[in-house]
Amino acid sequence: MDSSAAARNTAVTVGRFAPSPSGRMHVGNAFASLMAWLAARAEGGRMVLRIEDLDDRCRDRAVAETLIDDLAWMGLSWDEGPFWQSAREDVYADAFERLEEQGLVYPCFCSRASLHAATAPHASDGTYVYQRTCRGLSPAEIERRRAERAPAMRLMVDGAEISFDDAVFGPQHELLERDCGDFVIRRADGVYAYQLACAVDDALMGITQVVRGNDLLGSTARQMHVQRLLGLPNPGYGHVPLLVAADGRRLAKRDGDLDLGALRARGIAADRLVGWLGSLAGLVDEGAELTADELAAHFSWEKVRACGRQIVVDAESLSRYDS
Ligand code: GLU
Repeated sequence: MDSSAAARNTAVTVGRFAPSPSGRMHVGNAFASLMAWLAARAEGGRMVLRIEDLDDRCRDRAVAETLIDDLAWMGLSWDEGPFWQSAREDVYADAFERLEEQGLVYPCFCSRASLHAATAPHASDGTYVYQRTCRGLSPAEIERRRAERAPAMRLMVDGAEISFDDAVFGPQHELLERDCGDFVIRRADGVYAYQLACAVDDALMGITQVVRGNDLLGSTARQMHVQRLLGLPNPGYGHVPLLVAADGRRLAKRDGDLDLGALRARGIAADRLVGWLGSLAGLVDEGAELTADELAAHFSWEKVRACGRQIVVDAESLSRYDS
């Protein structure tokens, strides 16, 4: 490969789908997946599919297979994967050990209830800023408590400052001590935490562009911090609007009539769903029917930014597509 080809190669955008298969894909997830795919494809980029199935609630293979089928049905193709996080635990164990070797990891015995005590200060997104309760425990105390319960493991964040330019939200700056505190990288049940696994995988899988719902904006600085401590590259980020019901409530799996199973059973064609989701993002007019490939030509971050934080979904507007 000559050097210009190598330069072109490294400049390729690599996006990803990173679904947690806890149930049937919902229009909200379909929207975020579509945006991730369009953002990559609009730049001639590639996509990686990673199934985030570390949690017990996400281990049902049949649910994951259905989710994969829903992505394919929407015309959202991928170039690599599926990679299963459940098969990569040694990768996370290795990253965890490297953080431990830096002296940055300590056991935390706090119960969920004590963390949620009313005195705990809240970050703006509703998460708790950990007060370092377990940070100063002596080795003897740690041993005594370990005999009673298994600890979660936290990463110290002292002095960490993270800045990034989000494709939707613009320049972001976080001081981790102030904004989230020392955070869990391995749960008490031994499962590697989302923040660790996601950060490690995004970097090792060569992801250059993470596009996901803006409910995860607050996780980004933590993930970038993990990547930096491990000497791994940071991807770019774009946090797209969430779909909400008319009363402002986030559409969730309980809105069963808007999951892909129900929509497909209703006979809604993929082109219609893609057109509808594209119209919600302001990329095409309502009523458009087109493939994801065709929609890629209409993608622009400017239009996505113009949607604001949330998109109110009028389920009736999708019903009008019913034949
Ligand atoms: N697995 C996460 C979810 O489905 C998304 C992770 C991510 O996009 O970073 O909510």
